[in-house]
Amino acid sequence: MKLNLIGGAWTEGPRSYRNINPSDTRDVVGDYTVAGREQALDAVAAAHAAFPAWSLSTPQQRFDALDAAGSEILARKAELGDLLAREEGKTLPEAVGEVVRAGNIFKFFAGEALRTGGEVVPSVRPGVGVEVTREPLGVIGIITPWNFPIAIPAWKIAPALAYGNCVVFKPAELVPGSAWALADILSRAGFPPGVFNLVMGRGSDVGAVLLEDERIAGISFTGSVATGKRVAAAAVSRGAKVQLEMGGKNPFVVLDDADLGVAVGAAINSGFFSTGQRCTASSRIIVTEGIHDRFVAAMVERMAALKIGDARAAGTDIGPVVDDSQLAQDLEYIAIGQAEGARLVAGGVALGTNADGAPGHYLTPALFTETTASMRINREEIFGPVASVLRAKNYDEALAFANDTAFGLSAGIATTSLKYATHFKRHAQAGMVMVNLPTAGVDYHVPFGGRKGSSYGPREQGRYAAEFYTTVKTAYTLA
Ligand code: NAD
Repeated sequence: MKLNLIGGAWTEGPRSYRNINPSDTRDVVGDYTVAGREQALDAVAAAHAAFPAWSLSTPQQRFDALDAAGSEILARKAELGDLLAREEGKTLPEAVGEVVRAGNIFKFFAGEALRTGGEVVPSVRPGVGVEVTREPLGVIGIITPWNFPIAIPAWKIAPALAYGNCVVFKPAELVPGSAWALADILSRAGFPPGVFNLVMGRGSDVGAVLLEDERIAGISFTGSVATGKRVAAAAVSRGAKVQLEMGGKNPFVVLDDADLGVAVGAAINSGFFSTGQRCTASSRIIVTEGIHDRFVAAMVERMAALKIGDARAAGTDIGPVVDDSQLAQDLEYIAIGQAEGARLVAGGVALGTNADGAPGHYLTPALFTETTASMRINREEIFGPVASVLRAKNYDEALAFANDTAFGLSAGIATTSLKYATHFKRHAQAGMVMVNLPTAGVDYHVPFGGRKGSSYGPREQGRYAAEFYTTVKTAYTLA
């Protein structure tokens, strides 16, 4: 059984969790310990005790440890990618890509540890010097979802440690394997005991401790809107810093002048790859009149050729849904769409088994047409391989549909017009805008995040991560 890492010691919790492969539910990935409140409190205490020394560690010490972690992740990408695909269900190439991203993130923030600087500013008063510096926040509680089991933890843990904070990490219950493997790597990378702690457990107990404990200075959360709202309320009520990345209902606009191949490729990728289980997935495809029928016909043809199967089998395009409750949610929304009057033109069938007869949570990607902006399938995040097409009269109406949402994470457009591409980049109400690219799929060295109901607080990733993981000090000296 794999254990929690608390104060440098591998520690057993009161219960255990059996990690199941969604591609073949007979396959047990492993058994993982589950912490209760007591262990969460122990981890907070360990991180709190480690903070004074770690906050004063040298940039070289932080660089060395982060760089070592990044190197090991990259060297073991095939094995870690296999584990990730096995426990989460994304295809092997996607899983290996995610592991590489995690490794690169550790390398990037190793460099940032060396580059952390400040400003020397002339005072408005004679004989006074002013320095502006960044200092670590303290202990950071990190709470992550199941859909990116190694990349999301990496893009929170690496900057937290690079800027001199200590971490208590609570991964999602469904994917302890990747979290434990990352903790194992970090335990050997050169961080002193207590600087990084792993506490696998439920949101309602381990998560709740991180929200409530006064020794946690900041909480970085990625997950659903409903949980995010609870996290924010708890953090704000005690004055803790908080950063939230939540859901999406990302639009992908296809204009009459689009290259059809580019448009269909991007829509297939961002609608259905990773089984549609990406916060940046485009579930609303907004298509102007002149290309609508050709686009839908090409989508249906491409969808018929997608291979649904075991996440780790060669040639699989789309793996299973992560578990039975997510599958039930996807099927419920497919039924809602039909009841609302949308036309299901492809997919939406739960298969039960793959081509080899292995039982798994398989669902053929679903496409709705004849939808309206007010339908629930166009307003609520489904988080599965389900996309809908909205017909728009022209660019202006397409843009209005694109922005008619409570979310604002990513927005895409397929067009060959510089005029519309430029206008869309400026007027799409989203944190990330893609032109002739899928709404999902982002670089690791630049900011990531959204607006409206998708995000709250400072951006993640790239140099912008410093905004959350540090606090600014202004010092005055009389010369
Ligand atoms: P979730 O909100 O159910 O869980 C996220 C994490 O919060 C888990 O670790 C969970 O244990 C924890 N949690 C649950 N209740 C808690 C509580 N009361 N207190 C503290 N922690 C608690 O989300 P999920 O189902 O794991 O992930 C899917 C969601 O994540 C989707 O909505 C998706 O859009 C979102 N997501 C967003 C981004 C982004 O960057 N915007 C990226 C990936 C996923």
